[in-house]
Amino acid sequence: MKPLSNSLQHMDVTTTLHPYTDARVHEEKGPLVIERGEGIHVIDSTGKKYIEALSGLWSVAVGFSQTRLRDAAAAQMEKLPYYHTFAGKGHEPSIRLSEKLVEMTPENLTRVFFTSSGSEANDTVVKMVWYMNNALGRPEKKKFLARNKAYHGITVASGSLTGLPANHRDFDLPAIPVVHLTCPHFYRFGHDGETEAEFSARLVKEAEDTILREGPKTIAAFIGEPVMGAGGVMVPPAGYWEGIAALCKKYDILLVADEVINGFGRTGARWGCEKMGFTPDILVTSKQLTSSYMPLAAVLFSEAIYDAIADNSHKIGTFGHGYTATGHPVATAVGLENLAIIEEQGLIENAARMGEQLQAGLAKFADHPLVGEVRGTGLIAAIELVADKATKRPFDPLGKVGAKAFEIGHEEGMIIRNLGDSLALCPPLIATAADVDEIVRIMGVILDRTA
Ligand code: PLP
Repeated sequence: MKPLSNSLQHMDVTTTLHPYTDARVHEEKGPLVIERGEGIHVIDSTGKKYIEALSGLWSVAVGFSQTRLRDAAAAQMEKLPYYHTFAGKGHEPSIRLSEKLVEMTPENLTRVFFTSSGSEANDTVVKMVWYMNNALGRPEKKKFLARNKAYHGITVASGSLTGLPANHRDFDLPAIPVVHLTCPHFYRFGHDGETEAEFSARLVKEAEDTILREGPKTIAAFIGEPVMGAGGVMVPPAGYWEGIAALCKKYDILLVADEVINGFGRTGARWGCEKMGFTPDILVTSKQLTSSYMPLAAVLFSEAIYDAIADNSHKIGTFGHGYTATGHPVATAVGLENLAIIEEQGLIENAARMGEQLQAGLAKFADHPLVGEVRGTGLIAAIELVADKATKRPFDPLGKVGAKAFEIGHEEGMIIRNLGDSLALCPPLIATAADVDEIVRIMGVILDRTA
């Protein structure tokens, strides 16, 4: 008989496989059980309080105790807790949220498809693009271009677009036709003596050479996070996105902005593509859409894509794609209320102001002996730790030093995320000037204690 216990720790280690966790280490250590949320803080089952400096998973824009979202969910639960959107059905919150998203996104994006996660949204992008190209009589136009260190999710298709070894290794991915290009991170991938402008030009040339080698008629889409997130927070240098957008136009390739992290003010602008100066044909959003109080993601796309899909659905009699929870009424009601709060409280403008303070505060750690690079924009940042500042030599590839800094963060009452040896920060958009000062102060303590 299996041992029974009412300790949450024991129940967890005997029953659960955790995402992104070393399972054997976890069996020894047990879970950190988070019990409550309060503004930018979370509180664990022992009563210890932490600043959540990564907004959970880059997602809780309005903080962890926004009662308006609770009330919106409760009201929708009361009225219509569930209904689907298959076969032409609709309900008010999903219709209103579609309209709101079309209003908030770049002008050429006029149509919406809802999913429950960023991974499903990117799977939907792949399938929509394939379906569209089949409909347009060009079945050979199926390949995706993505970047090394990109994060687009973990389902079979979105995990293939992701460019991180841990998401491919032993999962037999990529499983769809995708070519990964150089990550646009100048500090790590710039050549000796190269300027940022030359680096951008080299990467754009690499993309064009790849398109010509593979055959422009076979490349369907280029997907990228305007500012890269989970791969280590990388802001591409000037000229990069301009060059990529021009190539996509030249070779009739759809440009997909994965704004699952960037969207709704994270970079200090409403959209990462606006901040980076390009207009996508498809935009993917999630996370801050509902502040992750409910699982929800949306794919926004152009009328031209819609028309091709709509015509084909008419020919076949259906668009054979959709999830039980597509446009879920409680999730979309929470999304609407969350976006209303972001607008009413000026949280995008706050992110721009607090972002400047955060970046300026972190910049002073550039001289710290452990720090190779401080980078970021708006309220998203990373500090990369290196073994040798002069040569940029990294610590061991398992990221043990980053993991140590992460643990020290917990001891100091702040939750950060260690991406290898890059320490990521991404605080809630409601952060105040005093909160940002405190985050920077604790970051300094973490660096000093990690040394
Ligand atoms: N795209 C980006 C840019 C992300 O950062 C993530 C998750 O972190 C995803 C897609 C996948 O989203 P989800 O974890 O909701 O499947």
